[in-house]
Amino acid sequence: MLSLARRSTIRKPSRSLQSSDVDTVITVEDNVVKARGVEFPNIWLRDNCQCSSCVHDATRQRLIDIFEIPQDISIRSSEADAGGINIEWSDGHKSYYKNKFLHNATGTFRERAIVRQGLRSPSLWGSEIKDNPPTVSYEDVIHEDSHGLYTLLSNIRTHGFTFIDSVPHTTSTPTESLLTRISFIRPTHYGAFYDFTADLSSKDMAYTSVSLPAHTDTTYFSDPAGLQAFHLLSHTHGTGGASLLVDGFKAARDLYDEDPDAYRILSTVNVHAHASGNDGISIQPYRGFPVLSHDAATGFRVQVRWNTADRAAIELPVSETGAWYSAARKFDAVLKRQQNEYWEQLTPGRVLLFDNWRVLHGRSAFTGKRRICGAYVNRDDWVSRWKMARWGQEEVLGRLAAG
Ligand SMILES: [Zn+2]
Repeated sequence: MLSLARRSTIRKPSRSLQSSDVDTVITVEDNVVKARGVEFPNIWLRDNCQCSSCVHDATRQRLIDIFEIPQDISIRSSEADAGGINIEWSDGHKSYYKNKFLHNATGTFRERAIVRQGLRSPSLWGSEIKDNPPTVSYEDVIHEDSHGLYTLLSNIRTHGFTFIDSVPHTTSTPTESLLTRISFIRPTHYGAFYDFTADLSSKDMAYTSVSLPAHTDTTYFSDPAGLQAFHLLSHTHGTGGASLLVDGFKAARDLYDEDPDAYRILSTVNVHAHASGNDGISIQPYRGFPVLSHDAATGFRVQVRWNTADRAAIELPVSETGAWYSAARKFDAVLKRQQNEYWEQLTPGRVLLFDNWRVLHGRSAFTGKRRICGAYVNRDDWVSRWKMARWGQEEVLGRLAAG
């Protein structure tokens, strides 16, 4: 379990990963290409030829059928230059592999995941983040030059959330425009972009005025919502309704430090969830997922699923479920520690946007009438936007085979 803890911190990309002039020695000996001491199977090289007859220039989709090329394809001749290596294959095809491409392909799983998954060292936080929460202005995000959007995405990737200030709030349209700067809105059985005044017409607890403990949304989907946005457009004739945020990755790390066995249970025992409040609907994921999910290749934490209201079966023989409850009770206590809770009263003009795979949200009870708008954005779509903003198209696409 110690290795899991060590793996929980994402390292910053090393300098060599950023560099375009990689100092990698490529050798060809006995019909085998080697870079950094790693041997490349010829079939891999041929499959990943980067020329424009093998990969479509614009879409980067593979154009060849590797299974029509002999498994024992061999090198007829090779010649290195300063930037890479030319190879003529036994079938007559000519390929060129840049040093950097081969260098990247020999990286560790962690190095190779950085660009593919848009990784960045998470800055774990507790209640102290209230003093200086990550914030960007609406004007900067909406502006065509994408620096504000970069800051927004960077805030979310680093802290798990961001505020967007000075958002016009007489209608919900500017909030929707803000979100579609990132990607399209994800519709669910509740609708897509919503603009809602709290009453009891919809059968979900989020639409009542009671308090909600910290939770993640849509655990009942195979692919839970990636980002979630809230904008309080108005609150009249009442008080309360402060928003609660908890850094799920920080709470997970705390649990690991204090009780590795509880952590192991929450990382390995699958839990099911459901959404059944609308007529004719009972949604459940195609399989159960643990509360704490990790990427098997890198060991990094990737997702927290925590929703007591929507929890269904625990994937253990019923006689053994006591151990899960005991572990979950410990995590619940960590989540509810005062030093892990960040409370903030939302105000008109300030949009809250957070990573629903990492940050839990809740709110205190309120009275009166609250008009809130918001929406979900898919995880893959916002991370795609972030990757392209952070590394640029050439770097991201250049790593598809190597990453
Ligand atoms: Zn080719």
